[in-house]
Amino acid sequence: MADQCIFCKIASGEIPVELVAQNEFAVAFRDIEPKAPVHLLIVPRTHIAGFHEIDRLDAATVTGMLDLINQAAREAGLADSGYRVITNVGPDAGQTVFHLHWHLLGGTRLSEFA
Ligand code: AMP
Ligand code: ZN
Repeated sequence: MADQCIFCKIASGEIPVELVAQNEFAVAFRDIEPKAPVHLLIVPRTHIAGFHEIDRLDAATVTGMLDLINQAAREAGLADSGYRVITNVGPDAGQTVFHLHWHLLGGTRLSEFA
């Protein structure tokens, strides 16, 4: 856990938010500023700054995190309609929270670049 990291605090329960899904390795909750009818964030319980540090996560964590994205999409009813999964890395992508997270977007026809 990194001091002062908001997603570490959410993943550990120090900041209470409604989790829509969770497993041993990751948590899923609603984005506070949704960009689509369904906009969830999937966050590994282990702190890394972003996707560029993915090699610091062990294989079980990577698999468990990706499984939770899939589970959250199914439980949000997006399996048939489709959805988008993205992660922003660094300034050009507009990353603002420096704890790896996946945006799960769906519930409408998404524009080419969302
Ligand atoms: P990014 O710009 O890719 O780093 O995404 C960070 C996302 O986290 C943004 O979409 C924010 O709306 C979202 N966010 C920041 N703080 C919170 C919070 N406390 N609860 C839920 N979502 C948050
Ligand atoms: Zn963190």
